[in-house]
Amino acid sequence: MTSAPLIDPFMRAIDYLRVSVTDRCDFRCTYCMSEDMTFLPKRDLLTLEELDRMCSTFIRLGVKKLRITGGEPLVRRDIMTFFNAMGRHLESGALNELTLTTNGSQLHRFAKDLYAAGVRRVNISLDTIDTDKFAQITRWGRLANVLRGIDAAQEAGLRVKINAVALKNFNEDEMVPITQWCKSRDMDLTWIEVMPMGDMGEEDRLDQYWPLSDLRARLAETYTLTELSERTGGPARYVRLEETGQKIGFITPLTHNFCESCNRVRLTCTGQLYMCLGQEDMADLRAPLRMNDEGQGALETAIRTAIALKPKGHDFDYSRQRPDGQMSRHMSHTGG
Ligand code: SAM
Ligand code: SF4
Repeated sequence: MTSAPLIDPFMRAIDYLRVSVTDRCDFRCTYCMSEDMTFLPKRDLLTLEELDRMCSTFIRLGVKKLRITGGEPLVRRDIMTFFNAMGRHLESGALNELTLTTNGSQLHRFAKDLYAAGVRRVNISLDTIDTDKFAQITRWGRLANVLRGIDAAQEAGLRVKINAVALKNFNEDEMVPITQWCKSRDMDLTWIEVMPMGDMGEEDRLDQYWPLSDLRARLAETYTLTELSERTGGPARYVRLEETGQKIGFITPLTHNFCESCNRVRLTCTGQLYMCLGQEDMADLRAPLRMNDEGQGALETAIRTAIALKPKGHDFDYSRQRPDGQMSRHMSHTGG
C-alpha cells in the first residue's frame, strides 16, 4: 500500500496531528465551556483501540508529531493505555514527538507514567497564579492541584510550557508576575489570544478580548523584546526577553495570519477530522475506521481525500466589532 506523505493542495506537508481524546473536563473555564455543558454520549467516542488504529494510520502516512488534548485528556479512563501504545511509534522512530496539552489537575498522578511512555514536554494551561482568580476563571479548578501537577511534571523530567489565555480585565495585571514566575521555575510561556469558539455570546467574547499586540507593547515597557525568526508551522511567534533570556510565545489567530505555514490537522474524539481550526469543514473518519478492512485502506483513502480539501486559511475577524467567522463548536470539541 502506498504511504506517500500527506501534502495538501497548497503544498503544505501535514505532519502534525492534534487529537482530542475526550470532550469532558474537570474544569469549566469561562471562555471554553458553559457551566452546564452537555457532553457527548460515551458510545460516540472512539475507543482507545480505535484511537490507536487511527493515530497509527496517520503516523504511517507521515505524521511525526502527535499532541493529545481534549477536553481534559487526563480525565479519560485508562488514557495511559493509549499513551503507552503510542510510545511504540517513538521507539520505532516513526514518530518524533508525543506530547499533550492539559489543565494540570491530574498531572501529579500521571507525570511519571507519561515520561515512561516517552512524553518529554507538556503544555499546561494556566491563566492566573492567584488562587481566587483561578477558581473564578476555571469555575471548578483549584490552583494548588495544578501547582502540585507542575512540581510532579518537573520532578519526572518533563519540560513544562505554560499557556495563558490573555483576558481583558482579568490577567492584564499579571503579565509581569506570570513572566517572572515562569522564569523562576524555568518554564516557557506562551500567551494565547481568546478565540470566538462556542456560543458564549458576542458581548462576553468582545469583553474578554485582549489583543496580544497590546500585551506585547506593554511587555516592551518592562523588557527589551527581540523578535525571533523561529517558526513551528503553527500560529506561535516568539520573542526573547533580553533581561532574562526567556522565550515568550504569542498565538494570535485573530491579529496575525499564520495559515500559510500550517502543517496540522485536528481529530475530534468522535473521529471527525478538522482540516482548519477556523472552518466548519470536516471529514468523518469514524465510518471508514470502523470498516476495519485489511490494511485500513478505506481509512487511508478518507484521510487523503480530507487532506486534499484543507482550506488555505480561516476567517476569524474581530475588526468589525462582531466576531465574524465565529465557530459554533467549542474548543473542547476540536481540541485546542
Ligand atoms: N483541557 C486542556 C487544557 O486546558 O489545556 C486541553 C484542552 S483546552 C481546549 C486547550 C487550550 O485551549 C487551552 O490552553 C485553553 O486555554 C485554550 N482555549 C480554550 N478555549 C479557548 C478560546 N475560546 N480561545 C482561546 N483559547 C482557548
Ligand atoms: Fe477544560 Fe481546558 Fe476547556 Fe478549561 S480550557 S474547560 S481545562 S478543556
